[in-house]
Amino acid sequence: MKKADNQYARSLIEASLDPLFTINIDGEITDMNQATVNITGVTRDKLIGTNFYIYFTDPQKAKAVCKVVFEKGFITDYPLIIIDHKFTNVLFNGSVYKDEHGNVLGAVIVARDVTAQRKIEKELKEANAIAELAKGVAEAEQVKAENATRIAIDSVKSKQQFLSNMSHEIRTPMNSIIGFTKVVLKTDLTKKQREFLQAIKTSGDSLIVLINDILDLAKVDSGKMTYENVPFKMSKSIDAMIHLFDIKSQEKNIKLSKVYDSKIPEVLLGDPVRLHQIILNLVSNAVKFTSQGKIVVSVKLIEKDDEKATIEFAVSDTGIGIEKSKIKTIFENFNQASSGTSRVYGGTGLGLAIVKQLVEGQNGFVNVESVVNEGSTFSFQLTFAISNSYHELVDELEEVTTEIKNIKVLVVEDIALNQLLMRTLLDDFGFGCEIAANGKIAVDKLKKGNYDIVLMDLQMPVMNGFEATEYIRNEMKSSIPIIALTADVTTVDLKKCKSVGMDDYISKPVNETILYSKIVKILEKVNQRNTKELERVKPRCIDMEFLMQRTKSNPQLMSEMIALYLEQTPVLISTMKQSFNDKDWDTLQATVHKMIPSFSIVGINQDFENMAKKVQEFASKQNEENDILEMVLQLENICTQACRELEEELIILKK
Ligand code: ADP
Repeated sequence: MKKADNQYARSLIEASLDPLFTINIDGEITDMNQATVNITGVTRDKLIGTNFYIYFTDPQKAKAVCKVVFEKGFITDYPLIIIDHKFTNVLFNGSVYKDEHGNVLGAVIVARDVTAQRKIEKELKEANAIAELAKGVAEAEQVKAENATRIAIDSVKSKQQFLSNMSHEIRTPMNSIIGFTKVVLKTDLTKKQREFLQAIKTSGDSLIVLINDILDLAKVDSGKMTYENVPFKMSKSIDAMIHLFDIKSQEKNIKLSKVYDSKIPEVLLGDPVRLHQIILNLVSNAVKFTSQGKIVVSVKLIEKDDEKATIEFAVSDTGIGIEKSKIKTIFENFNQASSGTSRVYGGTGLGLAIVKQLVEGQNGFVNVESVVNEGSTFSFQLTFAISNSYHELVDELEEVTTEIKNIKVLVVEDIALNQLLMRTLLDDFGFGCEIAANGKIAVDKLKKGNYDIVLMDLQMPVMNGFEATEYIRNEMKSSIPIIALTADVTTVDLKKCKSVGMDDYISKPVNETILYSKIVKILEKVNQRNTKELERVKPRCIDMEFLMQRTKSNPQLMSEMIALYLEQTPVLISTMKQSFNDKDWDTLQATVHKMIPSFSIVGINQDFENMAKKVQEFASKQNEENDILEMVLQLENICTQACRELEEELIILKK
């Protein structure tokens, strides 16, 4: 090797900061760089000729490594520790070198100092261990917190469930007590009896209010309170509510008045039931806590654009007022301004809690200003969308003047006392009434009989009111009016009633005026709709041609024949339906047989006569084909329509 080459190789070797040395096949050091001298602290002269493995903490291991190098020709990254003042960690790399004939002369060894790397690894490991530990602790804490939350939620839930269940259980018998008290109050009574019964009714009414309050709070707490968004007339709504306090305020000689901002749009979109409930609570408090002076309910427009209006409602009184220190707490559940309040004024301390929840639930806020012995003003603001849809207005209770007779009501109610109560009320109205103890029985009855309207309780065994209504609308395709009877009017899911196809709802305890008015109004609507529909879609089904020919247009004779048809046909229709339902094929055949000649007499289309013949044929074979029901119903419809048209003819003829 040339001198220059030698020097170049030497300078490369010396440039390495890692210890680098050569050994012969006996493991003796033959050469090294300065880094080796530095790390071992032994001079070059002393290093030369010594066994390289004595410089490691584990000489046996170093010797074994050396053996591997010579056997395999190389070794990579074998960890060893050099004996120096700090026991340096190295990775041992070595490979053999040979002469020009391939004979192994020795090995070149590099021991890379990995102290820094090891340190980082160690720190990383420690950091990881600490992180793992912290994670474990955090997880344990989380599990603890979750358990605690679950226990808390469970306990709140079971409290709410208990309150809900209890209130519901109490309400059902309470409704009967109030209902029957009302019935008895209508009978002949002595003055004393009337007084006592009135007292029972008043107590019952307050209990129902309390139970509804508890149910409402449970609903708000569980986030189940929903708000309607229906068009309503604000002014009318407030008037109706204030009227409720006419008698109370007159008794106490307090003036109760309304200040209403005329700029408020007439029809708004919102939840009139909840608004009613909020103001009712505030006015009821004002009346309760005021013994002289006046109460003013003011409704003021705060701001308005094309779409919405913000309105401030305020109830001011000249009553006992509230101490400043108590103002914050009166909105809490079961909280009254003084411990003596309940004794003197009654109440439970739930009203304002509900007011606050109902207002805040609709993104509003409540405010109160009060001076002891001067009076209080409770106010709140709510924003309503402005509606132009007058036609969609929720029905308001209007005086009914129409008298409707021959009504058959199907009452679907599982509780015997309520069944009796409804029967008594409907008897009083002069309506016929049948009872079904659950939705399933109701559906069966509707399939067989003719009813004008259904009063449907919601919670029943076997099939509840919602399920039954869904079945009636979707499976039976019947549009018979259905009014929900609900014990839960303030919290009832009215949307659900509507979505399953109920026409209206009535709260229990049933107010008989409301019940009567709602039944009559719905039936009036149905009648109007039917007449319109008949006018619109159905051309006349009868043709007087045949009758005129037969009677030589003699009005007397024609009237008699029509009267006979009108007398016989409804009976035949109902027998046809009944016998079909009873699968009494002989009667069905005989009845349809009797009907057949009349089709041509009153000029009903030949198709219906053929249809009647088919029914007769099926009946004689005692074979219930799939479409026989459809045909029976079509025959019923056409004959009913013929009767209606003939009634009109009869009137004309008589004139
Ligand atoms: P309740 O009226 O059943 O006690 P509320 O929650 O409606 O329950 O009212 C809580 C308390 O707030 C009342 O007990 C009363 O002390 C006080 N309060 C409410 N309204 C008035 C008012 N208009 N004037 C004086 N105090 C009132």
